Amino acid sequence: MLYLTDPEGLDEVLGDQPAYRADQLREWLYHTPVLTVDEMTNLPKELRDAIREDLWPFTVDVTQTADRGRTIKWLFRCTDGSQIESVLMGYSNRTTLCISSQVGCAMGCTFCATGQFGFDRHLDAGEIVAQVAYANAYLAANPIPRSPERVTNVVFMGMGEPLANYDNTIESIRRMTDVMGMSARSITVSTVGFVPGMRKLIDERWPVYLAVSLHSTIPSERTKLVPINARYPIDDVIAAASDYYAAKGRRISLEWTLIAGENDSELEAEGLARIARQIHAHINVIALNPTPLSTDKPPDRDHVNRFIATLKRHGANVTLRDTRGQDIDAACGQLRLRAESS
Ligand code: SF4
Repeated sequence: MLYLTDPEGLDEVLGDQPAYRADQLREWLYHTPVLTVDEMTNLPKELRDAIREDLWPFTVDVTQTADRGRTIKWLFRCTDGSQIESVLMGYSNRTTLCISSQVGCAMGCTFCATGQFGFDRHLDAGEIVAQVAYANAYLAANPIPRSPERVTNVVFMGMGEPLANYDNTIESIRRMTDVMGMSARSITVSTVGFVPGMRKLIDERWPVYLAVSLHSTIPSERTKLVPINARYPIDDVIAAASDYYAAKGRRISLEWTLIAGENDSELEAEGLARIARQIHAHINVIALNPTPLSTDKPPDRDHVNRFIATLKRHGANVTLRDTRGQDIDAACGQLRLRAESS
């Protein structure tokens, strides 16, 4: 599997081919990715035949589009049969890819379809990077109208807790930046508050953005929604986020999935605004994309607007995110859930 090989180790895979073949192959894999080996036109046919089955470390089980073709979701099947998801979203000034870092997730957040499955395994760095390369290859063949024809932004917000798969996440960031040429500023690592990983990330050389999913500021309530809060309490999470901001100068995002009757009160909004002011963070609020495994629902529009208004009244910078691709199960884990239950 080509993406499961270190980019610098491709020479060994190619055996007695001339050295420049590895450069050509690296170019196809990381700079101008193509969907099939046959499009690698400067490689000899015998070599293309030899690597034909080794291009992607997954096959595509399902491709779904929504939002008039501006959101595309893939359910990939890895070589061991595991399924992972990626979602591509085209905007006027950027094309953002949401990628998975694990098969399943051990964090068990109650409102999340992936959390309900439990944890299967970590993704290899190559399986993480291949999601970006595949999206680039797909975009080259099927551009989204009026959006950049390459992935401009990567967010680790798909299946899994990336900081619990620390080494593979970091190696994938190295390949995206050093090999693919993406800016670290176009990459966002999202965590539910895995404090040891947050602290290690401070010492890395990449100034990636850090998004911290809070979902509640009241410790007992947060533990119900985000069980890892019992191990890494919210105060430690906020302290680590604050230190990351101080070290990197990258504004922290606080992510908040709004759930009716759970975390949509005035008290929660005031607490969230207070934390955001304290660590100079930006708040992203998104109404819950409901999953069939939970009875949780998003609040109605008026309630969402009131929550946002309270945040602003208390001096917070906040963006209400649209729930892209609701009709294609775009929230993390939902497509896999649908595929397994059909
Ligand atoms: S919300 Fe993220 S951290 Fe929580 S269970 Fe789902 S994938 Fe894991």
